[in-house]
Amino acid sequence: MDDRESRLVGIFGGTFDPVHYGHLRIAEEIAEMTGLSEMRFIPAGIPRLRSNPVAVPHHRVAMVRLAIQGNPVFMLDEREVRQHEVSRSVKTLRELKQELGERAILCFVTGADAFMQLPHWHSWRELFTLCHFIVAARPGHPLASHRDTLPQKLKEECVPRWVSNGDSLKHASSGLIFIAPTTLLDISATLVRARIAAGKSIRYLVPDAVLDYIAVNHLYSKNDDTS
Ligand code: ATP
Ligand code: MG
Repeated sequence: MDDRESRLVGIFGGTFDPVHYGHLRIAEEIAEMTGLSEMRFIPAGIPRLRSNPVAVPHHRVAMVRLAIQGNPVFMLDEREVRQHEVSRSVKTLRELKQELGERAILCFVTGADAFMQLPHWHSWRELFTLCHFIVAARPGHPLASHRDTLPQKLKEECVPRWVSNGDSLKHASSGLIFIAPTTLLDISATLVRARIAAGKSIRYLVPDAVLDYIAVNHLYSKNDDTS
């Protein structure tokens, strides 16, 4: 394809319950190493493959807004939380493709754990016709060094798609997979929630603005007010 005017748009879906430095740092590194023109954080409304998030959508959205403030490449896309139905990445990507036009090359960003689950996603093979995947390694999920650990169906689908250089992504409109060599950060929202519930510090695991928001709204503590 003619890639002269194309631009790469990162799509970062997740529950962000809450958003933490693991998310923010991989988003920053991926945007830098692949030259994304924007990274869209898209908090899930009702996730299809897991139990409901602990914090209600408006709190999760507010925390992402605070966390990405001041980063000109990061933006918040609230479409999934505005829909009162189960979130499906395939639907979101179809919509974005329509809205952003042919010149936008969509790159779905996931951690290794989420990528391993891909065959459980709705219409998962269609996703390769809509976007590339950029996968960040995650401690405890050894995808980067052992692609053999992928489930068989996924491994077969991935074989012709691996690229070892982020620059390759702009030369095709969809269907490639790049494992991004990001800094390994063993931070999860589960850990953050557990520490809050145990009365322990989460400082330096999340931005200060998120820390303050959690405190003011009493989120994730034993007597939490998630509404
Ligand atoms: P939870 O523990 O509640 O599942 P989480 O920390 O995994 O939360 P999610 O909102 O589930 O956060 O993740 C959104 C996306 O970010 C997923 O693709 C996930 O793999 C990725 N991700 C989250 N934390 C990291 C991290 N520390 N390193 C790499 N990828 C991460
Ligand atoms: Mg997760």
